Amino acid sequence: MTQQDSRTAVVTGAARGIGAATARRLARDGFAVAVLDLDADACAPVVEEIVSAGGRALAVGADVSDERSVTEAVARVTGELGAPAVLVNNAGIIRDNLLFKMSTDDWDAVMGVHLRGAFLMSRAVQKFMTEARWGRIVNLSSTSALGNRGQANYAAAKAGLQGFTKTLALELGKFGVTVNAIAPGFIETEMTAATAERLGVPFEDFKKAAAGQIPVQRTGRPEDVAHTVSFFVSEGAGFVSGQVIYVAGGPRA
Ligand code: NAP
Repeated sequence: MTQQDSRTAVVTGAARGIGAATARRLARDGFAVAVLDLDADACAPVVEEIVSAGGRALAVGADVSDERSVTEAVARVTGELGAPAVLVNNAGIIRDNLLFKMSTDDWDAVMGVHLRGAFLMSRAVQKFMTEARWGRIVNLSSTSALGNRGQANYAAAKAGLQGFTKTLALELGKFGVTVNAIAPGFIETEMTAATAERLGVPFEDFKKAAAGQIPVQRTGRPEDVAHTVSFFVSEGAGFVSGQVIYVAGGPRA
């Protein structure tokens, strides 16, 4: 596929962490990539990296939990890069607390970004995919979907994303669109660094302790997840849909 006719991928929450690694990887795989995050300026380094390596990328500032913002962002991507063929619903936040201390705002914020965000983005891009009779949606779940102390909101959202994934796989399959989920375990990003900080543990110690509990004896890197996204969106993965892959260095959290 030449650069002119390369497919367009949208990666949300792509200014850093797993999203940034996924954007870089999909660009290397030949996609034109919309690097979408709350702050367009924060996306610039990822875009520059992709462009200087010979790829095509666009920085897009948008809040995935806001309907109008999503509509405008998808219109911009379509006009400037091309109709979305791939969507990676990666944007995420944590607002951890034990149930009795969890505020309603923290519950709503987490549901808003993960669940409402994935819903709004998927609904906005599906018409391009179904019209083209080809599409790939990948949702970021988490091992927390299996339950994680202090994360009632996040665990519920990540488990919800698995049901969302399987339902979209059923609805969109006949249009050539696959929908899958990745459930990472511990991945070294600002999100896990923030958890360490909240617990008052130096990040290096936190990682070391986590690695000791993981069968492959290391913590994950954003590239581990990006590699799995690359598989799900590949041409050859067209018969794989509605699946959840745990990228966690072992069979369970
Ligand atoms: P991260 O480093 O915190 O990056 C998340 C990105 O999402 C940030 O750039 C953030 O922007 C952006 N974002 C937040 N709210 C948004 C919104 N409403 N609209 C658009 N962008 C928004 O997180 P990560 O560790 O890379 O995680 C990426 C995904 O993987 C998340 O869905 C997370 O739940 C999931 N995950 C991570 C781990 C892990 O161990 N790291 C494990 C399992 C699952 P701001 O910086 O401006 O807030």
